[in-house]
Amino acid sequence: MKSRLLRMIARERVDRLFEFAMLSARSDLEAAREAVAIARRIAQRARIRIPKRYKLMFCRKCGNLFLGTDSFSVRVRDRRSTHVVVRCLRCGWVRRYPAVKEKQIRSAARGSW
Ligand SMILES: [Zn+2]
Repeated sequence: MKSRLLRMIARERVDRLFEFAMLSARSDLEAAREAVAIARRIAQRARIRIPKRYKLMFCRKCGNLFLGTDSFSVRVRDRRSTHVVVRCLRCGWVRRYPAVKEKQIRSAARGSW
């Protein structure tokens, strides 16, 4: 069991790293990606969750930041149940979100990240 203090520090660092990633994404994409990678490593080590607002921001596979229009694509698909497809244009990783009620979307986002 990790101490509460350690987790607090980890959460703060994850927060700051994502802030940095967002700010530097336009000027230095590599630094931004690196920041995301470090933040994920810290979260993993301290066994904390990455805040939901950040989770949707990067590719889970290659760490690419989903900022701007050339880093990812979003499509709404209507086959079977309506869902939103987010695709990373760097590695082709695909994530699907059911487009039903917000509550269900949230639980899907929580799913297997
Ligand atoms: Zn990717």
